[in-house]
Amino acid sequence: MKVRAPSADSRYFDVRKLIHGQRLHTICEEARCPNIAECWGRGTATFQILGETCTRACRYCYVHSGRPEEPPDPLEPLRLAHAAAEMELQHVVVTSVDRDDVPDRGAGHYAATIRAIKAKLPEATVEVLTPDFLGVEEEALATVLAARPEVFNHNIETVRRLHRRMRGAKGSYDGALWLLARAKQLADYPVLTKSGVIVGLGETNDEVVDTMRDLRAHGVDVVTIGQYLQPSAKHAPIDRWVHPDEFRWFREEGDELGFGSVFSGPLVRSSYRADEQRHAASNSTRTRGAVAY
Ligand code: SF4
Repeated sequence: MKVRAPSADSRYFDVRKLIHGQRLHTICEEARCPNIAECWGRGTATFQILGETCTRACRYCYVHSGRPEEPPDPLEPLRLAHAAAEMELQHVVVTSVDRDDVPDRGAGHYAATIRAIKAKLPEATVEVLTPDFLGVEEEALATVLAARPEVFNHNIETVRRLHRRMRGAKGSYDGALWLLARAKQLADYPVLTKSGVIVGLGETNDEVVDTMRDLRAHGVDVVTIGQYLQPSAKHAPIDRWVHPDEFRWFREEGDELGFGSVFSGPLVRSSYRADEQRHAASNSTRTRGAVAY
């Protein structure tokens, strides 16, 4: 796999200056995403709200884990909306660390962020990639959906057999499915639901298809599948490199299962070209898998 280096004639350095200037975080930097030169070069990024420290420690994730020292910053939604407007984003993607230390798990902060974006950029669509809101799922979902994000994303991350090993005791495969299905039930508007699977953690190809089948059975519209890259020696090792032909097969299987959009490829990440994923799913006749790998 080859990725581009940041280029001076792209928008990379402008995006970087704006994000750092507004004291914002992005999952692009926090998770060392390999696509950063491409995405920031196109003038897009995925914002990470609720701080830099995650209260979980998933075995595949590079985001810093520990006890957050600060409560959510009440001005962060406004700074984020300002940055999104400066970037002229038409589709704003927001994710976060897990905040098990906060009573509402950060749901109110998500809602405030969505509202701030919609106030500043009324034409833009908003996608949220949320944690599992452990223990307050129903209330948290209602809070987030009341702000009407166009896309509700919650990553299932891996197949059922590996879920606990990779996500720890607090992670739940069935809980993730429930959250996705419940989001659709609770929304009083046609929200798109979305989820992502990382491959190369020890799963089989059939288990990946089983996971896609579970997602479809819970009404999920968009799925992403991408290769795991071990972020440090302390993280789970790479079990295998999935061949591009296998990614193609996942896409075909996903199409057969009826997803509105299937993005499957070595460098696909949940937020990779999220605007195109949403567009493909919203106009889903045969536009599925708009990016071919
Ligand atoms: S794929 Fe997502 S996380 Fe990675 S650089 Fe692009 S927007 Fe950021």
